[in-house]
Amino acid sequence: MKILVINAGSSSLKYQLIDIETEKRLLKGICDRIGMDGGTLTQENAEGGTLTVERDMKTHKEAIELVLGALTDKQAGAISSVAEIGAVGHRVLHSGEDFDRSVIIDDEVVRICEKNAELGPLHMPGNIGCIKSCREVMPGVPMVAVFDTTFHSTMPPKAFMYGIPYSVYEKYKVRKYGFHGTSHKFVSEEAIKFLGAENCRRLIVCHLGNGSSISAVKDGKCVDTSMGFTPLEGLIMGTRSGDIDPAAVEFMRVKLGMKAEDTVQFLNKQCGMKGISELDSDMRVLEKAINEGNEKARLAVEAAAYRIKKYVGSFAAALGGVDAIAFTGGIGENSALMRRLVMQDTEWLGVDFDEEENSARRPGIRVLSKKGSKVSVLVIPTNEELSIARETYALVLAK
Ligand code: ADP
Repeated sequence: MKILVINAGSSSLKYQLIDIETEKRLLKGICDRIGMDGGTLTQENAEGGTLTVERDMKTHKEAIELVLGALTDKQAGAISSVAEIGAVGHRVLHSGEDFDRSVIIDDEVVRICEKNAELGPLHMPGNIGCIKSCREVMPGVPMVAVFDTTFHSTMPPKAFMYGIPYSVYEKYKVRKYGFHGTSHKFVSEEAIKFLGAENCRRLIVCHLGNGSSISAVKDGKCVDTSMGFTPLEGLIMGTRSGDIDPAAVEFMRVKLGMKAEDTVQFLNKQCGMKGISELDSDMRVLEKAINEGNEKARLAVEAAAYRIKKYVGSFAAALGGVDAIAFTGGIGENSALMRRLVMQDTEWLGVDFDEEENSARRPGIRVLSKKGSKVSVLVIPTNEELSIARETYALVLAK
């Protein structure tokens, strides 16, 4: 079966067509600048055929219609008719407390997503717009919603509660939800397959990319995670501050003359490693700057690594020890510097880190701990689209 995976942002739409039996990606593409001038679709198939279409897309529906045309393109497409698409998997940011797993989409699911849109005002309108458009233009094709939050729905209340009045939590659902769930789930499953369930009972997954989060996973189920009510909580990320004293936010708002509604944007876009370095959010740029002696770039990376290390320590405590630590995401998979800073001085935890293997470049799953290390340290490349396609297939088959 061929599964179309759709990951819609506020003004972009990423998609992949995956043959689920072979788990091979047949093509991938992106629509940029939806709702703005200068819209473009770019697509590349597995044979290297490429397509660029410059056309304004007023809505996500217009983008979907453009995508359906591109899928059958002679040069860069992968199917001869849209009827070959067996199912569509939609990445949806937020499940609220209404879903604890992926679901087949029907009218009721759309209604609940609309109710929860206020929990993710930047992403949910695009997610819902895409779902509605796909249902219109591909009637009869099963659609599945795969939420970014549901892998974390197994967190116990003591982990997801903030220290706020219970009635506020109850009425407005203000609590920790956690994000990057498809990645944390995929990497947990791969780690368990690789090490065997018995050697992976207490696992810490570090997803480090532009956005970063850590999860504590016990017997394959999430028990805690670093992101919160929104993806702003937790680690120092590319441009996000992560954990910060809310009173410092109010103090900065007054000193910098910000409007109340601009503070969240400030913490999301102007802070993190970009803010500390006053240079860039991109790890490659920061590593280059460090090599050239830039001290603020060094501080940014050291502060981000230190925050990760503290979360690893606290999640080891939450899990009652740790059997394995897995790194994933653009930084987790590629930055030997970040992994080294996080893993140095962790012998107390039972980690015997292999510096040489850490610096080597190899594809696929890699082991960065020495033989006999009590804790296995792994690099596991994530694949969120494949994870969404697998979930979609499982639900469609079960139906
Ligand atoms: P997103 O969260 O947008 O999916 P990614 O997971 O692709 O992001 O991660 C992007 C981050 O990974 C960037 O900071 C980028 O610099 C970093 N990165 C990618 N390749 C390398 C590399 N070879 N060395 C160091 N950092 C890298």
